[in-house]
Amino acid sequence: MKRRNFIKKASITGLACTLPPVFPLYSDDEYSVDELMGKADIELFGKGINLRKEAFEAFQKMKKAAYADGFDIKMVSSYRDFYRQEAIWERKYLRFTEDDGMEPLEAIDKIIEYSTIPGTSRHHWGTDIDIIDGYPKVSGDVLVPEKFETGGPFADFKLWLDENSEKFGYYLVYTDEPKRRGFKYEPWHYSYAPISIPMLTAYRKLNILRLLQYEEFLGCEHFTSGFLRTYIQDNILDINQALL
Ligand SMILES: [Zn+2]
Repeated sequence: MKRRNFIKKASITGLACTLPPVFPLYSDDEYSVDELMGKADIELFGKGINLRKEAFEAFQKMKKAAYADGFDIKMVSSYRDFYRQEAIWERKYLRFTEDDGMEPLEAIDKIIEYSTIPGTSRHHWGTDIDIIDGYPKVSGDVLVPEKFETGGPFADFKLWLDENSEKFGYYLVYTDEPKRRGFKYEPWHYSYAPISIPMLTAYRKLNILRLLQYEEFLGCEHFTSGFLRTYIQDNILDINQALL
């Protein structure tokens, strides 16, 4: 049930005063809270692609166009559910705190240079992709900014994306602007704007602070409301302006 309707209905029947002051479990939009947090079983399309239908179709068109221009778009990561993000988070948290001996808050700051807090990833939406060119031979990690810069194996591919991705609805999320805060520059991460913009709008209406208080993954007991407010402002909202 939509929250606005619920409150309206509740007040008609005289129940409004018995409601808790914060009521975060419904979103006002067509996307459920579980869906926005990567906990819903959504329908995904394309073997090894795993995107929402419209995003998948646009991706196929972009892939075809890139292929004609000599690039073989390879999906490194697309849909990722809450539990997968939780596993990534906890693995990094343990590595930084136990192996590297960092303090919890230091470890959390280090994790959020590139990884999201579970429940806050754009990869939960089935609209966002991490891509590379499958043609060049590459050693080591592929999702490294230098590999997309001049002299790197994906430099020409990046120029092609700059020129063409938006024609297919795909926009760079974490841009290379010096004043941008939050996640670092990710030349590989694109988002299918026609769906991700309304999803972000719905997501912003949630009480994310409150929702994260229900979670129990490692390290979350160190989140303060100040930390989370900054995280939301910088990591979730300080992105390519075209995606807001
Ligand atoms: Zn990504």
